[in-house]
Amino acid sequence: MKRQLAILGSTGSIGVSTLDVVRAHPDRFHIVALTAGKQVERLANQCVEFKPLIAVVSEASDAKRLQKILLEKQLNTQVLYGPEALVSAVIDSGCDTVMAAIVGAAGLVPALAAAQAGKRVLLANKEALVMSGKLFMQAMKSGGGELLPIDSEHNAIFQCLPNDFTKNPSASSGVEELWLTASGGPFRSTPIDQLSSITPEQACAHPNWVMGRKISVDSATMMNKGLEVIEAFWLFGLPLEKIKVFIHPQSVVHSMVRYRDGSVLAQLGQPDMRTPIAYGLAWPERIDAGVEPLNLTQLANLNFFEPDFKRFPCLALAFDAAKAGGTAPAVLNAANEVAVAAFLDQGLPYLSIHQVVEQVLNRLPVQNVQSLEDVLSADTLARKLANDIIQALQ
Ligand code: NAD
Ligand code: MG
Repeated sequence: MKRQLAILGSTGSIGVSTLDVVRAHPDRFHIVALTAGKQVERLANQCVEFKPLIAVVSEASDAKRLQKILLEKQLNTQVLYGPEALVSAVIDSGCDTVMAAIVGAAGLVPALAAAQAGKRVLLANKEALVMSGKLFMQAMKSGGGELLPIDSEHNAIFQCLPNDFTKNPSASSGVEELWLTASGGPFRSTPIDQLSSITPEQACAHPNWVMGRKISVDSATMMNKGLEVIEAFWLFGLPLEKIKVFIHPQSVVHSMVRYRDGSVLAQLGQPDMRTPIAYGLAWPERIDAGVEPLNLTQLANLNFFEPDFKRFPCLALAFDAAKAGGTAPAVLNAANEVAVAAFLDQGLPYLSIHQVVEQVLNRLPVQNVQSLEDVLSADTLARKLANDIIQALQ
């Protein structure tokens, strides 16, 4: 039986890599839904190749354009638009597996729908888990599906943990610590006084990984690693004190698990997201991901350093928000999304990103999270406040 796959965010970096793996295994996977925000032409080409039942874009006008192109190609893909249509792509497409690869908070509701509906969820959209970790993990449990982390660090940890640890974490497994590795991004050793003039192009030029623009900026500020600490906390259920971050500039060791008996298990590989994507798609089997084998003798060195919180204040803010709990991670995430977008598109200085996030966190009281509404209202408040702070700065 082929896996029936819906890809949320199929036109992005993760979406395109997912289709690359799928393309190499037509006997295993069948695409039933593809979704994009605004990239109509790219989505149309993907529809022509993979013939999904449902295709979704954000805006009505783009849906019209997409429908026209697909009719000319004599495809009977159903074209839908808007946030609710993302849920239709999960629920009405007949999929059994969902790649959640929309960037940011926009991916939360369809990812939660996939969790509730008992799908195999391949989770790239870390922001969804950061915002609503407790609700998301509860939804996975009650839905009864499988959650496979796609973020390379969490995928590495998943591979290094005992079987079933995420469903059944037993103390006898001897897991002591999770060690997340981080490349340190493009400004790992840039003199701090030069950071004030960083441009979006410089921030998006990651030394090891090719990724979407938002996560590239998050990697430069190390907010990405902060979000990943929170992601690891929810995925693996260990206390925050047992989750450590190490800068590892080569991005070869994707993360590690330290055990009670002195063993440390690591997963190594090329910095190519097709490895964790193929792992999630085929789990518990392993398939060809199209990735070059790692050549150990060609690696010069593998280095590991403690992160410098002065250079990377966003990492410190994320740890603080994780400790505060409740709505704080959702507030952190929302303020960061707004600040990063303003840096990319409106000339907000690079060093203002962490200042905006910090001010929003300081000004919004932490609330308990009981429902999705609690998360979404914290998200809305934080976005509004972040926008106000940015306007006042400009
Ligand atoms: P990207 O910007 O390349 O792609 C994002 C996708 O989401 C696109 O298909 C876009 O059209 C869609 N999208 C954006 N806004 C939307 C909206 N409002 N409504 C509906 N769709 C929308 O991003 P990416 O690099 O592929 O990252 C996707 C997710 O995966 C992020 O959460 C990121 O943190 C995570 N991730 C990415 C990588 C990587 O290597 N790129 C690695 C680990 C985790
Ligand atoms: Mg990662």
